[in-house]
Amino acid sequence: MQVGLHIRITDSLHALVEKALRLEIPFFQCFFSIKNKMALLRPTEQEIADFVGARRTHFTNLYAHGSYWINLASVDHTGHYALDRELQLARSLEFTHMVVHPGSAKGAATKQAGIDAAARSLNKALKKQPGIQVLLENTAHGNMTIGGDLQDLAAIYQKLDNPERVGFCLDTAHAHVYGYDIVSEQGRADFITLVDQQLGLARVALLHVNDTHDGCASKLDRHHLLGQGTIGLHALQAFVTNPRLQHIPLLTEPPVIDEELEREQLTLMRSWYTHQQ
Ligand SMILES: [Zn+2]
Repeated sequence: MQVGLHIRITDSLHALVEKALRLEIPFFQCFFSIKNKMALLRPTEQEIADFVGARRTHFTNLYAHGSYWINLASVDHTGHYALDRELQLARSLEFTHMVVHPGSAKGAATKQAGIDAAARSLNKALKKQPGIQVLLENTAHGNMTIGGDLQDLAAIYQKLDNPERVGFCLDTAHAHVYGYDIVSEQGRADFITLVDQQLGLARVALLHVNDTHDGCASKLDRHHLLGQGTIGLHALQAFVTNPRLQHIPLLTEPPVIDEELEREQLTLMRSWYTHQQ
């Protein structure tokens, strides 16, 4: 299994490609905003052409991560505009997937209203932007946030006009802090069975393998280096190399660390597949 990395764009698409090549990864994920700037990247025609050339030569799948200001579950029915812009950019750069969090039903009377809004937003955006796959990611938070509970993702999926365009991304840190037990052997087995029942394992197209300082059910979303958190190396390795999940591409989304540490995290993940427990 080949592993990937979430890379923050520091100044340009060119620097992003250079970094991915230095780290020898076959695929990566990124946001379409420059680190610490609340604005979408605006590449020139030439930058797009250069990126596409490199992308075709060096990489397999490419995952864009939708900006955190996209709220598909917004009940004022505007959630699809922000997604539409980012899907358009992703397509022009020949990304294969866009990972999105469903968002929050904040301001709505019920969580169900947010689930309905998220499905409507996805239906609109997918019709305008053919080709690219959207991956709905499980999230860390509770209350009116949609997607911590796997049932929320299943409920959105059931309302899609084009379900073949949508899959799922499972984040280990989010599952843990939301309250699913993936640390104990029995808990992990039960969680994987639940994923299969609610979402269908065949629809899980990406794993985000992350650790966290925070405890199970803390509802806090703070990633930490693999093996230095409350999930731990044994549980993370056992999860991603479980026979039911081991065919799924995975990447890690570390906190801000230097490139040497990122390289070490990748080496660690690769070793899981050569020394299976
Ligand atoms: Zn994630």
